[in-house]
Amino acid sequence: MNHSKVWEKSKARIKTNQPQHAYSTWFDPIISIGLSENELVLEVPNQFFFEWIQSHYKETIKDEVESVYRGQITIKYTVSPEGRKNKTRANLSERNPNTKQQYNRNKQLNEKYTLASFIEGSNNQFAKAAALNVSEAPGTQSFNPLVIYGGVGMGKTHLLHAIGNNVFQGQKNKRVVCASSEKFTLDFISSIQKNRTVEFSKSYRNTDILLIDDVQFFQGKEQTQEQFFHTFNELFQAGKQIVMTADRYPGEMVGLQDRLLSRFSSGLSADIQPPDFETRVAIVMEKAEQNGLKLSYDIIEFIGTHIKTNVRELESTIIRLLAHSSLAKKEIDFSLAKKVVKERLGSSMIYDITTEDIVRRVSETTHIKEKEIVGPSRKMEIAEARQISIYLCRQILGTPFVSLGIYFGGRDHSTILHACRVMEDKTKKDQRVGRLVNELKRELSFSVN
Ligand code: ADP
Ligand code: MG
Repeated sequence: MNHSKVWEKSKARIKTNQPQHAYSTWFDPIISIGLSENELVLEVPNQFFFEWIQSHYKETIKDEVESVYRGQITIKYTVSPEGRKNKTRANLSERNPNTKQQYNRNKQLNEKYTLASFIEGSNNQFAKAAALNVSEAPGTQSFNPLVIYGGVGMGKTHLLHAIGNNVFQGQKNKRVVCASSEKFTLDFISSIQKNRTVEFSKSYRNTDILLIDDVQFFQGKEQTQEQFFHTFNELFQAGKQIVMTADRYPGEMVGLQDRLLSRFSSGLSADIQPPDFETRVAIVMEKAEQNGLKLSYDIIEFIGTHIKTNVRELESTIIRLLAHSSLAKKEIDFSLAKKVVKERLGSSMIYDITTEDIVRRVSETTHIKEKEIVGPSRKMEIAEARQISIYLCRQILGTPFVSLGIYFGGRDHSTILHACRVMEDKTKKDQRVGRLVNELKRELSFSVN
């Protein structure tokens, strides 16, 4: 039997003994490369994969291969030199016939971070469009410098590298330099120690596009800022593109020299906001697919409803789900998803919800104080927040009108009934209110039981 036969047969055995998603995630991507003197060589896509196999499936693989081979065998693993790509939608659509010939791949860029794999939503549309523009015509527009800013885990680094990858692949004659501000700082310091400041300057100035991640970390580093200022000016004057990311709007950054900040503000600033519900769902679907996971829609919706802070959190929720189910050899069902999400959220998830919880959530969302929601005011926005709360209490908890009347400032039951009718109508006719109520309803209903 040749090596591919042995491995094919072993895979078939593994397939019947492992949950489907575990099989497609951890076994299907492995390919065999050779067999000699009782040694089978298998190639895995990347280092992480290798470590995962080593700690979880080493024995499984050995056992199955040995039963096929009918004898003892050593399994040797090698990591694919290219970090062989998964067959995911994003990768397929961006697969480029020239990729193989790229001998000089740019090691500063993470190849996975491409524009094609960056999911667009209303929260990041502008930043993505700016990134695309800049990467197609670096330095030629008024988008110089481009500053992409936003909170943690929003995809800033992803976009920055995507610009680099796009320039690098599309325009072979263009040079790309990409570094985090920490790397820039370290390179600078070590160049001083080694008396190689000229080389340092060259390495950052000899480029058509300079990508610097997290410029807020330049804060308080006067000499580094000085260096960066000169690098910036030289490139800028030569019409080269500069792209930076930051954790906030350049005008609000602290600990950076004014002259630097005024340079940063002179081009285009594009922000990335936290993803909204639809974008979160799209991200969960895409990330699940990339990991070979099939999730039912209620699970996707559940994750998208509760994991709200940022994309990195969404991504790690998927990875955890995968890990849990692989280890427990269990298919992913709603209760497992719930367990994982609860673990991630800790105590911030509402369990048995009460009227107070509903009012609190409405207050957080509308920025109307809880005291005002249950108070006497008839101001329009306060009355609206009150009606939303009442409506949600009715819908989710089914609280009787009379009790709601007592809770919401001693109103009689016909007022409560009226509030419910008004809301019923408004959620259908007024898009803003409809969205708000639906989002809250989804979130709160999911947390009961
Ligand atoms: P930041 O630099 O803003 O802290 P990252 O760029 O490191 O965030 O993003 C965190 C993770 O989330 C990365 O794995 C990235 O690929 C992923 N990610 C963020 N935004 C998106 C998006 N819109 N589409 C797909 N993946 C995203
Ligand atoms: Mg980052």
